Amino acid sequence: MRRPILAANWKMNLTSADVSAYTNRFIPLVADAKDVDIVIAAPFTLLDRLANELAGTAIQAAGQNVHPEESGAFTGEIAAAMLADMGCAYAIVGHSERRALFGESSAFVAKKASALLRCEIRPIVCVGETLQQRDAGRALEVVETQLRESLAEIPGEQAEQVVVAYEPVWAIGTGRTATPEIAQEVHAHIRKQLSAQFGEAGNRIRIQYGGSVKPETVYDLMNQPDIDGALVGGASLDPEAFSRIVLYQNQRNP
Ligand code: PEP
Repeated sequence: MRRPILAANWKMNLTSADVSAYTNRFIPLVADAKDVDIVIAAPFTLLDRLANELAGTAIQAAGQNVHPEESGAFTGEIAAAMLADMGCAYAIVGHSERRALFGESSAFVAKKASALLRCEIRPIVCVGETLQQRDAGRALEVVETQLRESLAEIPGEQAEQVVVAYEPVWAIGTGRTATPEIAQEVHAHIRKQLSAQFGEAGNRIRIQYGGSVKPETVYDLMNQPDIDGALVGGASLDPEAFSRIVLYQNQRNP
């Protein structure tokens, strides 16, 4: 049984004053959500404050990126140990915005993921095809290659620490969620690949879906056998909407 994991990705939004307003509203709303992991990935500048606000709750702070080196002349970058120092339990790597806008390769993502594991931070490794790739019938092949290359440096004994996020690029920030069936097809493919690479541990790795997830769509997505969570951008900026996503079991349409 895989424990569901619902993660917010605030991206480059909010300032320090917004953090307490958010957590003051969000924490009580999810007080009854005992059987899920809840994660909030915030901009680096907010992590200290966020981790302080979340102290005493089971909600965990996450980074949105990391640099693979331990320290040194990498102006503007943040190392895994610095995220650990801020109280991060997770960090996103390989988000499609980083891949597309900042030219990050899967090989670079692999180094980031292993740097995180060295600091006992769980990587949330994102993969996903573009619309053009899907329309060309290449979705599974693209995801398979990204996944193989992005997980190339994960030691088998740490495989279960990894979370994979399938985020079709055409569904991110577009309001167009993949249908549960489309998402499940890719998740099942990812699951097969994880099992082939990591054996039994691959079956225990959680696979999140991401791409315009909303309170209205989360239940049917989470009801699919290989969808173990959601990575949520836009809707996570509203504490009320994100709380409904966390409480996905209550969102079943009549
Ligand atoms: C994301 O950026 O990870 C994401 C899924 O965004 P959105 O929910 O806005 O599509």
